[in-house]
Amino acid sequence: ITTDDPVYNQLICVAVRKRPLNKKELGKREVDVVTVPNKELIAVHEPKLKVDLTKYLENQHFRFDYAFDENSDNEIVYRFTTKPLVQTIFDGGMATCFAYGQTGSGKTHTMGGDFHGKSQDCHKGIYALATKDVFRLLKSAKFRDEDLMVTCSFFEIYSGKVFDLLNNKSKLRVLEDGKQQVQVVGLQEKKAGSVEDILNLIQRGNSVRTSGQTSANQHSSRSHAVFQINLKFRTSGRLHGKLSLIDLAGNERGADTSSSNRQTRMEGAEINKSLLALKECIRALGRRGTHLPFRASKLTQVLRDSFIGENSRTCMIAMISPGMSSCDHSLNTLRYADRVKEL
Ligand code: ADP
Ligand code: MG
Repeated sequence: ITTDDPVYNQLICVAVRKRPLNKKELGKREVDVVTVPNKELIAVHEPKLKVDLTKYLENQHFRFDYAFDENSDNEIVYRFTTKPLVQTIFDGGMATCFAYGQTGSGKTHTMGGDFHGKSQDCHKGIYALATKDVFRLLKSAKFRDEDLMVTCSFFEIYSGKVFDLLNNKSKLRVLEDGKQQVQVVGLQEKKAGSVEDILNLIQRGNSVRTSGQTSANQHSSRSHAVFQINLKFRTSGRLHGKLSLIDLAGNERGADTSSSNRQTRMEGAEINKSLLALKECIRALGRRGTHLPFRASKLTQVLRDSFIGENSRTCMIAMISPGMSSCDHSLNTLRYADRVKEL
């Protein structure tokens, strides 16, 4: 990591990313109601009617550590958000990066968990970019290949249950021992000797994740995917640092709690609970010593060690769909992200 790169020294970084309107939206003459006036600001321009029926725009501005417009690519987003976290794990810390937003806003595109039979898809996402940096740093003078090794795990949380994506979606139990250490029993942890090794594992996990689904988004909108890179000492096997990259369930699903379908309603309640607990856990990270409601959801429970460590850091990237029809969801996403950074 060169001196040109941003090295934030705050514990929590919150960024926002606006995607471009896609072909389908342009075809429907969807209007882009989101602007990014500068590198820290995003604005939603919501069309409204006055009582006398004259039209006006209600402009709402939100400030974040970084705001990425529709012309920013994954490389840039990575450099300002996740890249500093890779350094953190080499320093012996625990780091997490979350992609948050409504379904279709670009979470998976950013993380690189795309799988539509196109094998190259995952190469451009944050999973792959982080992997490349991990192996680059491993070869640097300070961290010798001989001392540290890389392992990775990939699982998803669906309706409060954990499934191993590197082991045919086998269902896993989460146990907490007397010392409050949380363990995902039987989670596969694969040794990786190269970038290629990890990309293969990502692809395997992605295909397992969406298998049997009519569409990739149908399932992924209701589940959190957690991809983890561990740095361990070769000789003792002791953990040095861990990076968790998380593609969260669509936040609009949290509103499914009044659905007439029982299953959908239960899933919605679970998602709602986990996203609320996540927000509180991140906020607690910034106010050391406050109570951590990590037991409130499976997501926060399995990430417990990443929230309590001396050297824990986190980043949230809030994804925004720019269309007028997504206005309410976009505002919800921005308000949530705003609360996360507010200490
Ligand atoms: P999510 O995972 O949040 O449901 P996706 O990542 O699947 O959303 O994105 C929905 C669609 O929009 C996909 O076809 C994706 O390729 C496209 N997309 C998302 N973000 C961008 C972007 N920044 N630039 C171009 N296309 C994007
Ligand atoms: Mg997705």
